[in-house]
Amino acid sequence: MAAILLNGKALAEKIRAEIAAEVGEFTHRTGVKPCLAAVLVGEDPASQVYVRNKQRACEQNGLTSRLHRLTAETTTDDLLALIEGLNRDAAVHGILVQLPLPKAVDTTRVLDAVLPLKDVDAFHPANVGRIVQGRPLFLPCTPHGIQQILVRHQIPTAGTHVVVVGRSEIVGKPIAMMLMQKGPGGDATVTVCHSRSRDLPSITRDADILVVAIGRAKFVTADMVKPGAVVIDVGINRTEQGLVGDVDFEPVCQVAGWITPVPGGVGPLTIAMLLQNTLLAARLQLA
Ligand code: NAP
Repeated sequence: MAAILLNGKALAEKIRAEIAAEVGEFTHRTGVKPCLAAVLVGEDPASQVYVRNKQRACEQNGLTSRLHRLTAETTTDDLLALIEGLNRDAAVHGILVQLPLPKAVDTTRVLDAVLPLKDVDAFHPANVGRIVQGRPLFLPCTPHGIQQILVRHQIPTAGTHVVVVGRSEIVGKPIAMMLMQKGPGGDATVTVCHSRSRDLPSITRDADILVVAIGRAKFVTADMVKPGAVVIDVGINRTEQGLVGDVDFEPVCQVAGWITPVPGGVGPLTIAMLLQNTLLAARLQLA
């Protein structure tokens, strides 16, 4: 039996329409348009596409966006000065530093410089700490998108065994933390795996919900998936066959109960959640 497709594109459109209505109401009431400032350093083609898509989404849904484009030679100090200016600029509500930054730049120092109230990616230690404590200000965009896919498809998480493959700061760690919190979309028993995990297939085969974020094309094969499991594929890998996820999609479809496609799964939700965070940032700064 083929798995049911979790259509992230359709869900993201629905959520973005909801956000656009909220943005319209907010702007009508306050006279303020939520504004996202994106910082793009260097010429990485994928980063350019991501930033363009984020900016376009802002414009389509009633928010404004600014782009600060800097050369690959930009230094940590240049970036710190730019962030400082954006922190002080009352017209900017959200700041997004597109990763990866060039190798010579101290990424941690740059991300730590973003004012927590404008940190719409939720990378600042103050925001990460709040997530760990179960009292988030912002939720990180990709993990929040994954949680929305589950919640809005009424896929229960409480009491389930979630296995997260990948322990990045951007996806693996925060999604594990969010799904184990008390409350709706949480209460799961979470196992986190990584490159040093022993006998990975025996762990993934026990997952009711399998979240894969490793950046290895088609890594998760059908024999690694429990029949009927929910499979969330976060991976984006550019191959000769085009864009593919971390999951070997067709064979896994024959085993899983639900699955996200790549493209059109988690990716569109990430952008929707960024818009939501930018609106929230504007609300918080006007409060
Ligand atoms: P990352 O920082 O590249 O880290 C990869 C993680 O996967 C690490 O924890 C690594 O383990 C683990 N890993 C690598 N090979 C493994 C293996 N053979 N077995 C088990 N674990 C393994 O990851 P990321 O930034 O989270 O990105 C992961 C993927 O998601 C990428 O394809 C990225 O493009 C995609 N992504 C998509 C979105 C979206 O919006 N859809 C957003 C963000 C990222 P160690 O820690 O032990 O090295």
